[in-house]
Amino acid sequence: METNRKDCEFLPKLASGEWIGAWGLTEQETGSDAQGMNATAKKDGGFWVLNGTKNFITHGKSCDMAVVVFRNGEKGDSRGMTTFVIEKGTPGFSSGKKENKLGMRASETAELVFDNCRIPDSNRLGEVGEGFVQCMKILDGGRISIAALSLGIAKGAFDAALKYSKERKQFGKSISSFQGISFKLAEMATDIEAATLLTHKAGEDKNNGKNVTQIGAMAKLFASETCVRVANEAVQIHGGYGFIKEYPVEKFYRDSKLCTIGEGTSEIQKLVIARNLLK
Ligand SMILES: Cc1cc2nc3c(=O)[nH]c(=O)nc-3n(C[C@H](O)[C@H](O)[C@H](O)COP(=O)(O)OP(=O)(O)OC[C@H]3O[C@@H](n4cnc5c(N)ncnc54)[C@H](O)[C@@H]3O)c2cc1C
Repeated sequence: METNRKDCEFLPKLASGEWIGAWGLTEQETGSDAQGMNATAKKDGGFWVLNGTKNFITHGKSCDMAVVVFRNGEKGDSRGMTTFVIEKGTPGFSSGKKENKLGMRASETAELVFDNCRIPDSNRLGEVGEGFVQCMKILDGGRISIAALSLGIAKGAFDAALKYSKERKQFGKSISSFQGISFKLAEMATDIEAATLLTHKAGEDKNNGKNVTQIGAMAKLFASETCVRVANEAVQIHGGYGFIKEYPVEKFYRDSKLCTIGEGTSEIQKLVIARNLLK
C-alpha cells in the first residue's frame, strides 16, 4: 500500500516505537459486518472531510497517528470504502470514551472521533474505493499475529500451571501426581503444540507470499480457542489461588478471551474457512 505522502514520514517512527499507531475499522453498529459502516469521507477539492466515530480502537487515546477506513460511497458497497492516515492534533480528530475492560488492560481501547476533520488528499492510503480489500489483507496477516499472541498467553498459563502442580501438595502428594491433573496438563501441552504448528505454517505461507486467508483464519481460530481452554484449566489447577491476583493465571484467564474476539470472532473465522472450502 502506498500513501501519496512519503512512507518515510511515518514508517520509521512507527517501526522504532517513537510513535504509536492505531487502526480503525470497527464502529458501534458494525463489527463483524464492516461493510455497513457509517463513518463518511466526502471529497472537497483537494481535501477530504471525515465524520463519524470508530469504536473499540486499540491505542485509541495514546496513538500518534491512526489508519482509518471510511465510507466514500453507498452504505454496504464494499468498493465504496477508502483509507486515510490521520495524525494526532489534526483539527476535528479526537479520542472519545475509554473502555473499562475485562482483560488486556495494559493497552487502552477507546473511540476515535471525527467531527468535520479536514485532511489533504495526500493523506489517502492507497486508491479511492480500495479500503475494504485493504482491510481483508490486513486481517489476513493480523489473524496470524493474534494466533501468536494466543500462543504466548497459553504457554505462560501452561508453564505456571505445570510449576504449581509440582509444588502444591494435597493428600500428602504433589497434585501433579493425580491423574485428573496430569491429564489436564497432557491435553494443554498437546493443544499448544498443535496450535504452534498451525501458526508456524500460517507464518511460513505468509513469508512465502502465499494467500493466507484460510490458513490464517484456521490458526487464529484454533490458537485462540486453545488459549481460552488452557487459561481456564490453568486457573483450575491452581484451585482457589487461581482466582487470586498474586498468581499470574488470573490475568492470563482474563486476557485470553479477547483472542477469540479481536480481528474477527471465532464464528467469523469459521465463516471464512467454510467459504474458502465451499467456493
Ligand atoms: C479489546 C478490543 C480491542 C479491539 N481493537 C480494535 C482495533 O484496534 N481496531 C478495530 O477496528 N477494531 C478493534 N476491536 C473490535 C473487534 O474487532 C470487534 O469487537 C470484533 O470484530 C467483533 O465485532 P462486534 O464486537 O461488533 O461483535 P458483533 O459483530 O456484533 O458480533 C456479536 C456476536 O455475533 C456473532 N456473529 C456476527 N456475525 C455473525 C455471522 N455472520 N455468523 C455467525 N455469528 C456471527 C459474533 O461472532 C459474536 O459472537 C477491538 C475489540 C476489543 C474488545
